Amino acid sequence: MRTQVGIVGAGPAGLMLSHLLHLEGIESVVLEDRSREYVENRVRAGVLEHGTVKLLEETGVGDRLAREALVHSGLELRFDGEGHRIDLSGLTGGKTITIYGQQEVVKDLIAARLRDGGDIRFEVSDVRLDGLTTDAPRIAYTHEGRTQELECDVIAGCDGYHGVCRDAIPAGVLTGFDRTYPFGWLGILAEAPPSSEELIYTYHDRGFALCSLRSPRLSRLYLQCRPDEDIDEWPDERIWEELRTRTATHDGFVLNEGPVIEKLVAALRSYVVEPMQYGRLLLAGDAAHIVPATVAKGLNLAVADVRVLAAALVQFFGSGKTDLLERYSETCLERVWRVQHFSWWMTTMLHRFDPDDRYQQRLQISQLRYVTSSTAAATTLAENYVGLPL
Ligand SMILES: Cc1cc2nc3c(=O)[nH]c(=O)nc-3n(C[C@H](O)[C@H](O)[C@H](O)COP(=O)(O)OP(=O)(O)OC[C@H]3O[C@@H](n4cnc5c(N)ncnc54)[C@H](O)[C@@H]3O)c2cc1C
Repeated sequence: MRTQVGIVGAGPAGLMLSHLLHLEGIESVVLEDRSREYVENRVRAGVLEHGTVKLLEETGVGDRLAREALVHSGLELRFDGEGHRIDLSGLTGGKTITIYGQQEVVKDLIAARLRDGGDIRFEVSDVRLDGLTTDAPRIAYTHEGRTQELECDVIAGCDGYHGVCRDAIPAGVLTGFDRTYPFGWLGILAEAPPSSEELIYTYHDRGFALCSLRSPRLSRLYLQCRPDEDIDEWPDERIWEELRTRTATHDGFVLNEGPVIEKLVAALRSYVVEPMQYGRLLLAGDAAHIVPATVAKGLNLAVADVRVLAAALVQFFGSGKTDLLERYSETCLERVWRVQHFSWWMTTMLHRFDPDDRYQQRLQISQLRYVTSSTAAATTLAENYVGLPL
């Protein structure tokens, strides 16, 4: 079998790339190791940047989002028992963030690709890449019990952090940069209406807490915890009590509670590989970089990468020119590092590091006071949060 672009992974990166290429008349085949049902129900990200939403709308996959998503024009930073609103919209010329689950984006993209005759193969296994430095790289895989080979002009590695594409690049080519934080997040999804219309980021002596949401009926709540925290030591009531303590305000904030339907402990980690390409293999999304969930950027970065990649491929297939493709990694990495910095900055400002480091705690409070009182500082937060232009 032959196609122009072989895409490994049907997450937001792979599906969006396939969709953008289709709109430009470029063929692709998407290979995914999980089932359709699994990827459509994998709950992960939920906060979309302004530019991500615009791209979904402009490319015809924003109808359901326009009907069902929740649009936020601000967020709250809470410390010393008081909330301070950051007016994201007012500080960025009207830009907003949108709450719409990653699984819904994935459903919409799969529906659009299948409606347009797209080729997505679910439940493939043994994906192996070959001939990456030739003009005809190949992907071998097993599907429905048969070994198959897909010959391509270009391969897009959109298979996430644990995928196989990054590892197909010979040792010594890539440089990895990483940062592991000395804490993790204990997260719950609860059947409780959000306690606030906007997200609340709380700095507290006992550690960070985040009140987020997935819908008008579902709250997503997080607590800073040890990276190796044993979830069994956290019965629901202990979680609620800790959340109540950390989010309490002098004016009597009430945390809405309800049945916990999901519980997880996640490490907070950043990782970037450079370059994001090797021969005819281009990495996009989590396959090339991850960020801690603090500022909800992973999905948005994945979409930004494939937008750059689609433009480069349009040039390549249209005129044979390769300059955009050659600069793909360089172009993406500029945004990737900006997001890495923003995510590190917010994570560092809001989390408790060494409980005995009173110097750092004073710095954090000073920074929080500055961000919530200076328009210049708040604007820096706001424009990075809603997302810099694509
Ligand atoms: C709990 C959690 C909460 C998060 N919250 C947020 C948030 O609020 N905002 C945000 O922006 N980001 C968030 N993220 C990050 C975000 O979900 C990711 O950045 C995003 O999924 C990246 O998309 P992707 O397409 O690059 O990778 P993925 O979504 O990981 O997709 C990769 C796909 O490749 C498939 N695959 C893997 N290996 C193979 C293989 N060998 N062969 C074929 N297919 C393969 C996988 O099954 C998957 O479908 C969160 C992540 C987690 C885990």
